[in-house]
Amino acid sequence: MSEFRFELLETRGRLRRGRYHTPHGTFETPCFAPVGTYASLKGLTPDQVRDTGSELILANSYHLHVRPGAERIERLGGLHRFMGWDGPILTDSGGFQVFSLSDRLRIDDDGVDFQSVVDGSTHRCTPESVLTFQRQLGPDIAMVLDHCPPGDAAPALQREAHERTLRWARIARDLHDSWGGSSRGQAVFGICQGGIDPELRAASAHALVDLEFDGYAIGGLSVGETKQQMAVALDACVDELPADHIRYMMGVGMPEDLVHAAKQGVDMFDCVIPTRHGRSHTAFGKDGTTLKLRNLQYADDERPLVAGCECYTCRNFSRAYLRHLSVSKEMLAGTLLSIHNIHFLQDIMRGLREG
Ligand SMILES: [Zn+2]
Repeated sequence: MSEFRFELLETRGRLRRGRYHTPHGTFETPCFAPVGTYASLKGLTPDQVRDTGSELILANSYHLHVRPGAERIERLGGLHRFMGWDGPILTDSGGFQVFSLSDRLRIDDDGVDFQSVVDGSTHRCTPESVLTFQRQLGPDIAMVLDHCPPGDAAPALQREAHERTLRWARIARDLHDSWGGSSRGQAVFGICQGGIDPELRAASAHALVDLEFDGYAIGGLSVGETKQQMAVALDACVDELPADHIRYMMGVGMPEDLVHAAKQGVDMFDCVIPTRHGRSHTAFGKDGTTLKLRNLQYADDERPLVAGCECYTCRNFSRAYLRHLSVSKEMLAGTLLSIHNIHFLQDIMRGLREG
């Protein structure tokens, strides 16, 4: 029997409080998942990640397939054991990276040829191959391959990408079913595309629901559209998705976007922003502000990053010390700032859950 289950505990307006059960434990929703692209939350140990309040983490199956190889990770006991994280893990299919980072792309109806951003080698991704990599890696949640066009793509390309995404989703769903579905210990989520066109978004979500995935993701947003366009496209998806399945908005991590989308009925988020900010000497502050720690203004500032923040960094260190680490290019700077940034977003999610 499948160990995956979404429990909808409470609805306030359109905001949903829930709990998702996986073979590696549960996570409370709305939930934010920090990203460890290469099976590493850059600069943080798994214990440090857990201490930020994170219950679910992300890795990228495409990057791990290129290096060190999905087969190798399988031989070494799977992704949980390999990276020392015993909680829930989701792997992205890599579709977004393939379409957004590769210079040389050749897309056909069966898959996509591309040049690796890691080492320049050429690869081919198909709906079947990305699911096979993820079966080898063994995360709790795998994602289908989708065609994610640029945010400013012409309507004709958006429609083509939407139709291709659905064809690929059907192939992935059939393969997942042929392996025994989620009862083999891995859930597979479909991904809604359609750009900023609400009709295309609704059609995409509707068709995915007909395919009966374990959960539903909303991709291709927060890629340069206005906040208003994002909200309209998101509404169009959410209206079509079943209340008893988890909803995941991909690649969104700015505090105000998390709050808005959760209040539109999204349960799950992921983003590299908190750790990327941390490595570039930037900390989340109150009310949508950020602190650039290399600035001279913090040289004698004895206050924590955010007054009242309970994270390890704010409980122990001053802005002055963090500035010193940043200016001195100490490794600890990125670690401590990433801890604060992830914790900061987890505080927001906790606030949304508690109401
Ligand atoms: Zn803090």
